[in-house]
Amino acid sequence: MEITKAAFVISNTDHKKCPAPTIPEYAFIGRSNVGKSSLINMITNHSKLAKVSGQPGKTQLINHFIINNSWYLVDLPGYGYAKVSKTMRSKWQKFIQDYLLLRTNLYCVFVLIDSRLEPQKIDLEFMQWLGENGIPFVILFTKADKLSKSVLAKNIEGYKSELLKSWETLPIYYITLAETKMGKTEVLEFIAKINIENPMNNNS
Ligand code: GDP
Repeated sequence: MEITKAAFVISNTDHKKCPAPTIPEYAFIGRSNVGKSSLINMITNHSKLAKVSGQPGKTQLINHFIINNSWYLVDLPGYGYAKVSKTMRSKWQKFIQDYLLLRTNLYCVFVLIDSRLEPQKIDLEFMQWLGENGIPFVILFTKADKLSKSVLAKNIEGYKSELLKSWETLPIYYITLAETKMGKTEVLEFIAKINIENPMNNNS
């Protein structure tokens, strides 16, 4: 799939105010500063669709973009940013959780993980929560340019072994790199395949 059209639709903090759930939707989430905006821009061939920010924790909204007039890409707020207050954090958590649990057209969540780091508790807990709630997800390892192949392999193995402590099967994962567009084809082909296999019946 090639993305020929990508446009911003709406931002909000309430899943009930999101666009009518009539087309498939894919959400991107990860820790603040994981490289989510850069990845979204890379995937959509758009240098400024998502705001690349030098200020972690800034994006606090559910952002909808319509892609090729046929599916929604959703940029979700980053989690785990230490500098926001606890009250603020739990408020975010609530609206993100409501969105993830209640959005009927959400086909898959892409969980972005910084490949430079050893398994992080917050990422593991988030994936555990998705799994327990039956929310399908794929892992995208980001920033794969800043480390050697052996460290990359070690960190990915670390995640795999942590996940296998709770789950029998591992989620699909792709290695991505904003600058070289590594992983772009894989992510778009994955989305195209799911869209074809799961057409939405909007007449019922
Ligand atoms: P977000 O907060 O998750 O949306 O992250 P951003 O896309 O705003 O990126 C955070 C920082 O990481 C920025 O300084 C980016 O330039 C940098 N960054 C993003 N993607 C990559 C990547 O693939 N490799 C490297 N080395 N840096 C990246």
